[in-house]
Amino acid sequence: CGIVGYIGTREAFPVLLNGLKKLEYRGYDSAGVALLNGSLEVFKKAGKVSDLERFAGTQNISGDTGIGHTRWATHGEPSDKNAHPHLSANRIFSVVHNGIIENYARLKTDLEKHKFSFRSETDTEVLANLMEYFYMQSDEVTAEMAVQLALSKVVGAYGIAVLCSREKDKLIVARKGSPLVVGLGKNEYFVASDASPIAEFTSHVVYLNDYDMAVLQKNNFTLKNIENKPVSVTISNLDMQI
Ligand code: GLU
Repeated sequence: CGIVGYIGTREAFPVLLNGLKKLEYRGYDSAGVALLNGSLEVFKKAGKVSDLERFAGTQNISGDTGIGHTRWATHGEPSDKNAHPHLSANRIFSVVHNGIIENYARLKTDLEKHKFSFRSETDTEVLANLMEYFYMQSDEVTAEMAVQLALSKVVGAYGIAVLCSREKDKLIVARKGSPLVVGLGKNEYFVASDASPIAEFTSHVVYLNDYDMAVLQKNNFTLKNIENKPVSVTISNLDMQI
């Protein structure tokens, strides 16, 4: 339902939480965040963003890179374990996802044959494990290649934001049929499923088109498509849009 992401020099958690609150108007049943801080740490809860905030208040949450989600369940009941972000089996990838992976059952069966186990009933967890499957095939496979390979197997609609615990300097986003916008800051980037969480930080944004993939690093923005072809970047100004 709602996606947020941050990479930069601030503490990511307050930025993500603030963004999730801005997306609450869309309706949702669960909320969660993943932070990169040495390893990938995930905090998620069925219920309101305020429930997540209360729960997180008891934890030690830090990190300058993170992703967050408000979920509107399509596959699997609203619950803590079905809430996003989802982790891959060996905690290498964390994914938040808007949309539906239509062929998830078939992909899940294939992954189970390769000894992947699942913690949730969601279509989204299949994506996280598929990325890990491709990542583990060879040392040559980068996080963005693993994302591209996973997406090449997918039938359905998605807006996704992805973290990789082995490539901590990156936040990867991609879309097909579900909106995503990247806010361009100074040594920082903001991601969201609509511009409302971004507007207070920057007015320079890039709206992703279908099949676009952006790789965000503190000082670098790369736009390509999911087949790894370069894509030209159009920067829009939020101030100009009434
Ligand atoms: N299909 C995913 C799920 O049920 C994502 C739903 C959404 O867009 O929030 O977990």
